[in-house]
Amino acid sequence: KRVLLNIKNLKTHFPVKGGILKKTVGHVKAVDGVSFEILEGETLGLVGESGCGKSTTGRTIMRLIKPTEGAIEFDGKDITSLRGKTLREIRQDIQMVFQDPYASLNPMQMVGDIVSEPIRNFTKKSMKSLEGEVKELLQRVGLPEESYYKYAHEFSGGQRQRIGIARALALKPKLIIADEPVSALDVSVQSQVLNLLKELQDEFNLTFLFIAHDLSVVKHMSDRIGVMYLGQLVELADKDSLYKEPLHPYTKALVSAIPEPDPRKRKQRIVLEGDVPSPLNPPTGCPFHTRCPEAREECKAARPALKEVKPGHSVACVLY
Ligand code: SF4
Ligand code: MG
Repeated sequence: KRVLLNIKNLKTHFPVKGGILKKTVGHVKAVDGVSFEILEGETLGLVGESGCGKSTTGRTIMRLIKPTEGAIEFDGKDITSLRGKTLREIRQDIQMVFQDPYASLNPMQMVGDIVSEPIRNFTKKSMKSLEGEVKELLQRVGLPEESYYKYAHEFSGGQRQRIGIARALALKPKLIIADEPVSALDVSVQSQVLNLLKELQDEFNLTFLFIAHDLSVVKHMSDRIGVMYLGQLVELADKDSLYKEPLHPYTKALVSAIPEPDPRKRKQRIVLEGDVPSPLNPPTGCPFHTRCPEAREECKAARPALKEVKPGHSVACVLY
């Protein structure tokens, strides 16, 4: 299969201003040297606690933020420093589904207007001429055709996320970056929305970067999974190896916290001590050493590189 997205040593650092002179006093290293590929048609899950840089990674790929360093290749093109018209062209092919359908849609805007907006922005087509197409899209995401004339505030959270998905699909993108698309929804509708995304993936040959803090949600959706900690990718593997044989001590702790209904399969839960350190002052060496149950002296010295230790399974830890 073809590589659709290839990010290399991606860094997104934000300056922090301080004092009366508002000088830069430091940098939040939100994304600090992340590399991975996504093949066409696959779903790569990206997990980690809030603040680990997974959303910033998604927004940087979308080029809503300019990366500080590194490269983003999409569909064979280097899009790292595109601007203006060429950037807008690429954006047709990369769309985002956001976490909070309440915040990402204007409640007073008509649904037909919301869903057709991306197409109208890129073509000179009128809303009227797109009506049939948009109604079809609405039906495809499980909403009645009449939704076209209603306003976003008239819908439930799950339905609003369906509107957001229809909007993301309007330009027939190749890649969808879904940033916690179900975490703001009731548990009862989460799996419906996830199943919809899977169906649409097959139908429209979509590739997904699926961002979530919940390992069970990512498991349901992904072919491969990357685990992030403090702006770095600490493990990357296909789904089954990651859940059956997690290698990184952080991943082991995350996997041990997934509820297991079968008592015979239950493993000892690993509870991590302490909090995630501030990305403004990340620890030297391995970013996880302040909380790692297996930390040793050498872990403080140098940051371990992500390396493939088994076919398709990479980890950044001195134990391997
Ligand atoms: Fe733990 Fe050291 Fe491995 Fe980091 S490098 S995860 S501190 S054992
Ligand atoms: Mg986030």
